[in-house]
Amino acid sequence: MINIENYNDENIFAKILRNEIPSEKVYENDHVYAFNDINPQAKIHVLIIPKANYCSFSDFTENANPTEQANFYKSIKEIAKKLELKDGFRLTTNIGKNGGQEVPHFHFHLLCGKNIL
Ligand code: 5GP
Repeated sequence: MINIENYNDENIFAKILRNEIPSEKVYENDHVYAFNDINPQAKIHVLIIPKANYCSFSDFTENANPTEQANFYKSIKEIAKKLELKDGFRLTTNIGKNGGQEVPHFHFHLLCGKNIL
């Protein structure tokens, strides 16, 4: 069962951040990394993650400082601008077992395109 109480740095996104496994970079700054989902659910499906270790949205909103949180959300806007998503997009984050979270490193899914479910 997924554990979002204690950060496990062997999760797949931690390995991506350490370059132990490859990813298709979409955007990066000092605190945020964004890359294409390996199993896209829409024409554009990007995962946006903080470089710092947070297990979930709940962990991030409880424990990241306000500046860190603001910078994270601003980066999403920058990514949308970079990808020229002028006509909109969807942001989702799954939290824990009942939210369908599979990777225990906080992430947003950014989805855009006609195939959104
Ligand atoms: P969650 O279910 O945790 O909200 O979403 C995890 C997402 O990570 C899924 O959409 C899944 O396709 C994606 N994913 C899982 N493993 C990898 C990987 O090794 N590389 C990439 N780029 N995406 C992955």
